[in-house]
Amino acid sequence: MSDLSTALVHDDYEPPAGFRAPQPGIFKASTVIFPNVAALRSRDWRRRDGYTYGLHGTPTTFLLEERIARLEGGRHAVLVPSGLAAIALVGQALLSPGDEVLLPDNVYGPSREFARHELARWGVTHRPYDPLDAAGFAALIGPATRLVWLEAPGSVTMEFPDLAGLVAAARSRGVVTALDNTWGAGVALRGFGLGIDIVMQALTKYPSGGGDVLMGSVVTQDAALHERIKLTHMRLGLGVGANDAEAVLRGLPSMPLRYAAQDAVARRLAAWLATQPAVAQVLHPALPGSPGHEHWARHCSAAAGLFSVRFRRDIDAARVHAFCDALRLFKLGYSWAGPVSLVVPYDLNPMRGAAAAADAAAGTELVRFSVGLESADDLQADLAQALASMGG
Ligand SMILES: *Cc1c(COP(=O)(O)O)cnc(C)c1O
Repeated sequence: MSDLSTALVHDDYEPPAGFRAPQPGIFKASTVIFPNVAALRSRDWRRRDGYTYGLHGTPTTFLLEERIARLEGGRHAVLVPSGLAAIALVGQALLSPGDEVLLPDNVYGPSREFARHELARWGVTHRPYDPLDAAGFAALIGPATRLVWLEAPGSVTMEFPDLAGLVAAARSRGVVTALDNTWGAGVALRGFGLGIDIVMQALTKYPSGGGDVLMGSVVTQDAALHERIKLTHMRLGLGVGANDAEAVLRGLPSMPLRYAAQDAVARRLAAWLATQPAVAQVLHPALPGSPGHEHWARHCSAAAGLFSVRFRRDIDAARVHAFCDALRLFKLGYSWAGPVSLVVPYDLNPMRGAAAAADAAAGTELVRFSVGLESADDLQADLAQALASMGG
């Protein structure tokens, strides 16, 4: 089935005999019971034709793994208890002392912290690269570079990377590439067609859609790469609960609809905010003029319901915070892709320079919006009243 919406609803599922409901059953167990010692000794936890122990997979987690692998256009998936755990798992499975990982300079903050503190303690170094400069990136790849991390777009400053150029440079040097596809979610962007080796996602965001689950996935095409990740996953004891898996299975069929709805409203609000006198810059990869827009246009036809705004330089941080405090429907909170619209102010100073350099008329306080499922008119009215109360 080529259409994602249809495929997510009509995914293969074999219900228990006599109960032909399309919704999958939820199975829970620490161990399974083996019929005899021979079966206990011979059953291989890595094979999917038999079960051994809950941590190594249940019918529920196997089904979700298969659906996530298909969503991303890959073959194999493992599930972990959060998106951040998926990031950590990739590093732990692939990197050894003396190795280096290259991280985009607009990378998801906790991903950088994992490299700075955990990878560093294990003797793995990291260097930042500018995701808009593929030539400069190619020059950074050295003999110790074992992994190139990609994120599209940077989840706060929203620059869309030159994915084609970055992947080509990494591949020409034989370096493994991994994409944080939380934003693209397998809907707006799929990594394997671009030649990316590993695609992780925070299922916490779009696949769940409820704002009530934390989970991550690591998807691969290559069986040997999957095996390395799966073995590390097993040794670390990473597993997910059946109720959480159920929540994500339930979210998947409505994901393309939610994605499209949040995309449309986010673009409308971003375009409206760009016309407001207090606003100096709107960062949304689908808006012409936003950093990396041309790369977004090359690789994507849709965008997540996420954008950032920078106010005029004369509007100080206290007024920006007052604007955020005045919002009523947009709640102050991290995360995104759930039903509730969210907003977070960030200080750009410790972050990368491209967005800052792009518009010197803008202040250094950046406000990141995540659009929920409320009506676009209500959300726009909320932004308007908060702008008015700020004196913008
Ligand atoms: C939220 C997020 C993560 C981490 O997901 P958690 O489930 O919250 O740990 C990773 N990458 C990006 C881009 C995210 O937005």
